[in-house]
Amino acid sequence: MDLELVTVGSELLLGFTLDTNAAEIARALASVGARVTTRTTVGDSEPAIRDAVAGALRRTGLVVVTGGLGPTSDDVTKKAVAGLFDAPLELDQQYLRRLEQRFARLGRGPMPPSNRTQAEFPRGATVLPNRRGTAPALWLDGAPGTAVLLPGVPHEMRALLREELIPRVRSLVEARHETPVTTRWRTLRTTGTTESAIASALADLEAGLAPVTVAYLPGFSGVDLRLMVSGLREPEADAALHRAAERVLPVLDAHYYGEGDTDLAMVVLDQLRARRMRLAVAESCTGGLIGARITAIPGSSEVFAGGVVSYADDSKVRDLEVPGSLLEAHGAVSEPVVRAMMAGAARRFGVEASVAVTGIAGPAGGSEGKPVGTVWLAARAGGRDRAVLRRFPGGREAVRQRSAQAALDLLRRLLSGVRAERR
Ligand code: AMP
Ligand code: MG
Repeated sequence: MDLELVTVGSELLLGFTLDTNAAEIARALASVGARVTTRTTVGDSEPAIRDAVAGALRRTGLVVVTGGLGPTSDDVTKKAVAGLFDAPLELDQQYLRRLEQRFARLGRGPMPPSNRTQAEFPRGATVLPNRRGTAPALWLDGAPGTAVLLPGVPHEMRALLREELIPRVRSLVEARHETPVTTRWRTLRTTGTTESAIASALADLEAGLAPVTVAYLPGFSGVDLRLMVSGLREPEADAALHRAAERVLPVLDAHYYGEGDTDLAMVVLDQLRARRMRLAVAESCTGGLIGARITAIPGSSEVFAGGVVSYADDSKVRDLEVPGSLLEAHGAVSEPVVRAMMAGAARRFGVEASVAVTGIAGPAGGSEGKPVGTVWLAARAGGRDRAVLRRFPGGREAVRQRSAQAALDLLRRLLSGVRAERR
């Protein structure tokens, strides 16, 4: 089943707000067998909305619209769509009372008059209540086709998408096909290697994975591989993905660390927990990014003792007991210093596992011998330790993010007994 999306908002057109709604809706619809064939973005203009929605309905007969349902003068989606469906806006007294009660309940005083427009709906529309906000979703069936209007606020849109739209679209798909065909995918996450290295390792294999296709998605944290299959029924699709993953995973080898939205910090915490070890970190150029990644995971307190953000040389000496002589002889970005930071953090927190990072994030501070992107990493766990030198590409943010990921990865490989790899 095909449909189109129209997202409304001048801020989207100008690029001040990223159109995350369109991406989320398309992804969710694909998983129940509905295919978004075109996405259109228009500003807060009634004729522009009307044209976009009319075009979408002409092509597919089904359109999902988000945005422009608020109470202000720039919110004109309802008016535009009501015009197309020849369904005048009518005040819904019952909904108006619910709105007024909502304002009273939240202690916001009397409802401003502008909110009255939010209780006006095109005649005949199905009102799908929004528990998180004032604008409900609307479902319109009529001569031009079917239009579904969702509020623009992302968390409100998301809830209505999940609770109202997806179940309804699933039924529509099931009514049209005896057995729904879907788009299914699995994301295999890797780090410590490159897109081209994975692509050449998979070169001989890729064609044989059909109907499953492979997308390479590189980012600061590594390369994600999205295995995807469309047009099969759910069990067959999942079986095809399973077969493909069975063939791809051995090639990814130790670079693979998890699936879907698994964070590497989660993997490392699980490894440490299983080995009954606690962790401390010593961070220079990452400035606390590693600690932030770890503490973002619920339950990290069981494993994470703490860390030292040791940015200046004198802090490395005072807070991590790095010998001043090492700093003088080798510089802050060196193997002896990163090892001393690692040892200092473990000592200071009295733990078995520690990880340390010191590097040059740029844009200044590089030299011929140690250009921007030069980073030393060290990890120890259970009496074993390892230090590695990496040269990361990119600007300051890229180097900091890549360093945090590489530090976690060094620890992961150490903990699983796999040799650390260089790029
Ligand atoms: P609206 O429903 O048009 O009044 O939008 C309410 C809020 O949601 C505004 O802050 C918008 O910037 C935001 N928003 C609207 N449409 C989208 C979209 N497609 N993606 C992300 N945010 C959006
Ligand atoms: Mg808007």
